[in-house]
Order: sequence, then structure tokens, then C-alpha cells
Amino acid sequence: MVKGSSEEIREVDALIIGAGPAAAACAKRLVDAGYETVALERKALPRHKACSGILSPRGHRFLIENFGPLPKETLHAPSSADGVTFHFPSMLSVSMDFDGGPTPHLHRKYADHWAMRRSGAEVHDRTEFTGLQDKGARVDVTARRDERTVRYRARRVIGADGPGLSVVRALYPDYAGRIPWFVVGQKFHAVIACPLDDKYFHFWFHPELGHYTWSHARDGRQIVGVGFLKGDNFDVRHQRVVEYLERKHHVKLGPAESPEIVPANFGPSLINRYIFGKGNVLITGQAAGFFNMIAEGMSCALHSGAIAGEAAVESFRNPADVQRVYRGMIASEVRRCSDQWNPLEIAFGRPHEADLGGALKKLKVRERLGVLREILSFTKLYAPLNWGRQIIWQAVCRRITGRYPPTRWL
Ligand SMILES: Cc1cc2nc3c(=O)[nH]c(=O)nc-3n(C[C@H](O)[C@H](O)[C@H](O)COP(=O)(O)OP(=O)(O)OC[C@H]3O[C@@H](n4cnc5c(N)ncnc54)[C@H](O)[C@@H]3O)c2cc1C
Repeated sequence: MVKGSSEEIREVDALIIGAGPAAAACAKRLVDAGYETVALERKALPRHKACSGILSPRGHRFLIENFGPLPKETLHAPSSADGVTFHFPSMLSVSMDFDGGPTPHLHRKYADHWAMRRSGAEVHDRTEFTGLQDKGARVDVTARRDERTVRYRARRVIGADGPGLSVVRALYPDYAGRIPWFVVGQKFHAVIACPLDDKYFHFWFHPELGHYTWSHARDGRQIVGVGFLKGDNFDVRHQRVVEYLERKHHVKLGPAESPEIVPANFGPSLINRYIFGKGNVLITGQAAGFFNMIAEGMSCALHSGAIAGEAAVESFRNPADVQRVYRGMIASEVRRCSDQWNPLEIAFGRPHEADLGGALKKLKVRERLGVLREILSFTKLYAPLNWGRQIIWQAVCRRITGRYPPTRWL
């Protein structure tokens, strides 16, 4: 702690903004390497996080390897998910089991807090990042706690603050206005009757329902969620899905509890437009644009967060431009994440941790062609965003060069 002219400034090696999975993984790497690390979280911990909590096998492995076995309170009921079921307008349903067996159904409020505590970093909750100034050798950061301004000084700052993008906005004030925003909302219903298998996460490729439509069981209730481009009415969208589930899947639900509605920046990973920061400020997790298919964002948040932490450690040990180090190291996670959306990798590789190809092979040829047609017609929903051409061009680059061009990253 140094005395400023009027206020105290906390000096640290690394300051992480956020206390989600990306922050916990980043903190773990820094603390393990012996660097003084503080994480700022705007909410009181443990904090609620709107999330289905379905973790990929790779995310599960990361948690066990880095933080140890998951305590009981970090899980919802059912405590695990076997896989994902895709539903199509033709009423064909395709179920895929996760590679290596079921994965945990995380209760984000407690799982995130557990991981953060296990990282060993000092966490300042109810402390909201408000701004920064990169002065070359250090970064000065301001935050708000209890209506007061608090100050920090760090050699590296890592923005792991999710779709709120507060650190991104501080670096690039006009960025948030340049990307399309989705609204992702869910309601929790009492269940009267629900024939949907509660061991699977259910996803609808149905253009009339929304860009993202899902349902799954949690703690005796049924979640019904829908994602769509910002500007539409959530209640109307949600009701349409509830009626569809009743009409087509005989799902009878009781009244819904208060909705959770959040903005989402999903898009950068589809078109390889990640944002990794500048100077001594690194951006990671969902803030950087990492988002796997089926809205699975935890595993790539964990892995990208760890890479940001490793890059910071590397730059402390062998003084180097931390951006160059980070961008070199993060390319592997970019490949993993963008491959999941890449039509050529889906057709000729196996980018997902569930056997989509195997599940499709179980269908008759006529059904298989029908499914492909329905997926194609679903993707037209995204046409107004002009992502199609970009996805195809990035897919071709990936095939030819083996990587996604880093020149598109901010
Ligand atoms: C409805 C819904 C369902 C989802 N379902 C799944 C799922 O089943 N599986 C899955 O893997 N992913 C799912 N996701 C996505 C997943 O939740 C995110 O991708 C993941 O949490 C990203 O992790 P992160 O650490 O990057 O950011 P976050 O988990 O968002 O953490 C960021 C943290 O930063 C804090 N913060 C923000 N601004 C500031 C600030 N100015 N100062 C201080 N702190 C700040 C936030 O409060 C938060 O705690 C879902 C998302 C939604 C919205």
C-alpha cells in the first residue's frame, strides 16, 4: 500500500476484474507462480449468476485438476448431465452423450465462489471497476466500494468481467456499440408434467422460436429459456416457447417465477473477432468473446483465463510485451472455440465433446438429410448479421493455414 497525495493506493502485481470462472483460473496461475494478485468483484460474494450450469468434459477436467473435487454445494439437482438433445421442427430429436460420461450440473453461485477461493487470490467483493489508465510501467485503476472511490496500481490488469465488458469499454469506448447484442432470458417453472429427459440439456433448432431456445430440469423446476436479438419482447418470446413445448412435447408447466434476463455478446467466436486488450491490460473469458456452441461458456472461460494468467507470469519472468505473449498463447483456445462453430470442422473434424456424427449415423439417410436441411434453414435466422460469409472465409483460412488469422483480433 502506498500513500497517495490524498488517498491510499493498493499496489499489486496483477489486478483481475471479475470473480467468475475466467478470473478464478487466471488468479490460480498467478498465485501459484508467487505473484500478488487481487480480484475485484462488483457484487457481494457468493453472487448469483444466470446460467444453465452445464459444463463440458474439458471444463470438468479443468476444475478437478486445478481446484480439486467439487463440493456438494456446488451442484444443482440433477447433479449431472449426460449430454445434449437437439430438437427439430420435424419433431425429430437427436441425443448425444458427453465424451467420457456425465458432467456436473454446476450451481454457479457456489461453484464460482469455491473456485475463486481455491485460487488463493485476495478478493475484494462489492468493488466495481470504474476505469483505468495504462502508464506503461503500471496501470492505475479506480473502483467504487460503498459509494467511495478506491484505487489500485498493478503491473498487469486482466479484464475477466464477462459480457458487462467494463474493461473493454474503458479501452475501446465505442466497441460495445459496434457488435450485435442478444438478449438471453429464462424463467423457472413449477412442473405439472414434463416428458423431456431430465438428464439432458434440450436445445431447439427452430427458427420460429428464437436464436437460442432451451429447456432443462433444475432443483425440481423446469427452466425455459430463449435468446434473440436485442429489441424484441422477452415475455412474448418466452410464452411462445412454453406453448410450443406444451403443444409439441406435452410439457405442462405451472406459473413462472421472476425472469432472469441478461445481455450477451455471443458472436466474436463465430467470426474470429476476439478482443484481447492492449498494453498491460489483457481481456479474457466471455469478455474476450469466448463462447462455445450451445451457450457453453465456462470451459473456454476457464482455459482462456488460465492462459491470460500464464501470459502475465511469463511477461514478469522474461520481460516481454505481454500482448505478444498472450496472443501467441491464446491461439490454441481460439482454435478450440471457433472450431465448434466452423462448418468444415463440424463436417470433417470432431470439434465437440459429444458425438454428433455418431448420433446422426443412427438416423436413416432420409432423416439425416432432413436434419441437415433444418439446421441450414435455422442458420438463416442469423443472416441479417452478415456472419455467413465471415464464418465461411474463416473456415477456409483455418483449413489452409491450420489457424484463425490473428489480424482480426482487437
Ligand atoms: C442464461 C444463460 C445460460 C448459460 N448456460 C451455460 C451453460 O449451461 N454452460 C456454460 O458453460 N455456460 C453457460 N452460459 C455462459 C456462461 O455463463 C458464461 O460464458 C461464463 O460465465 C463466462 O465466464 P467469465 O468468467 O468470462 O464471466 P462471468 O461468469 O460473467 O463473470 C464475470 C464477473 O465479473 C463481474 N463484473 C462485471 N463487471 C464488473 C465490474 N465493472 N467490476 C467488478 N466486477 C465486475 C460480474 O459480476 C461477474 O461475477 C450461460 C449464460 C447465460 C446468460
